[in-house]
Amino acid sequence: MSESSDCLFCKIIAGEIPSSKVYEDESTYAFKDINPKAKVHVLIVPKKHYANAAELAAADPAELAHIVSIAQQIANESFHGAYRLVFNTGLDAGQTVFHVHAHVLTGEKLDE
Ligand code: C5P
Repeated sequence: MSESSDCLFCKIIAGEIPSSKVYEDESTYAFKDINPKAKVHVLIVPKKHYANAAELAAADPAELAHIVSIAQQIANESFHGAYRLVFNTGLDAGQTVFHVHAHVLTGEKLDE
């Protein structure tokens, strides 16, 4: 599935809803989380619509690896390469937007 008309993050990627862009290439978009849980809190999303990390991993594992490499790059630039990478998957795990997104938390020492 390439786009979902009701999807908030598809609208952000299309520029229909404003976001604070951190990174973009042909397949991937990254922007600052509006409700940051760390000094640097970035969401990385594939431009193609997949509901969650498992769907993305099954359909396009190279894109999943690409997302991890972008997370590393953001952390290299903001906190000597240290970061936490979170994919909330499913309502009961706190997923609220059903377009897969990696939370990158970095920029400061994180609680254990
Ligand atoms: O993992 P989860 O689905 O809960 O994460 C969604 C994230 O999207 C939240 O951290 C929320 O702050 C963020 N968000 C955003 N910009 C929006 C809507 C939600 O950064 N316009």
